[in-house]
Amino acid sequence: MRIILLGPPGSGKGTQADAIAEAYNLPLLTTGAMLRAAVEAGSDLGKQAKEYMASGALVPDELIIGVVLDRLAADDCAHGFLLDGFPRSLGQAEALDHMLHENQQSVAHVVQLDVPESDLLQRLAGRGRDDDNETTIRERLKVYQESTVPLIDYYSSRGVLRAIDGVGTVEEIRDRIRSVTDGTNA
Ligand code: AMP
Repeated sequence: MRIILLGPPGSGKGTQADAIAEAYNLPLLTTGAMLRAAVEAGSDLGKQAKEYMASGALVPDELIIGVVLDRLAADDCAHGFLLDGFPRSLGQAEALDHMLHENQQSVAHVVQLDVPESDLLQRLAGRGRDDDNETTIRERLKVYQESTVPLIDYYSSRGVLRAIDGVGTVEEIRDRIRSVTDGTNA
């Protein structure tokens, strides 16, 4: 089962990603966490990504696409994976599709968590991450609108978009996601 989680910063993707990955025993690829680890480790990738992340901008496609596709080529991803935070631009979505297509594979579900902006601001303000200050939060929401929202149409036209109401308790949202993903071949 190949699943993508799509949603603005603060929509609860990370929390839900853990639950889905565990329920279906899928390798979880969280690009934000991968990048933060690279920054922490001071690797080349980390050095190049740092400023973009601190300002709330996206890391350029040419930096992130290779990292993700390499990871997806590993054995544990052969039968499925859960992507959290990727793709975030049309270029990333096309690169992923291209790779899957070459392997006669496809994405089963793009789960889109729908949360109103007022809720997002409240949730992000309470999270306390380095890039969760007000200026950066606004920038990340803007970047989401501009670069990532076009993916909703992209996946919708491919028949794999599953929009989920992302307002509610963690358990309610988990169950909404499960009602979409259950019954799919793992
Ligand atoms: P996140 O934890 O998903 O909010 O990601 C934190 C930051 O990492 C983002 O604000 C971006 O700067 C960067 N990032 C994470 N995933 C991607 C991606 N797929 N493409 C570009 N930048 C990314």
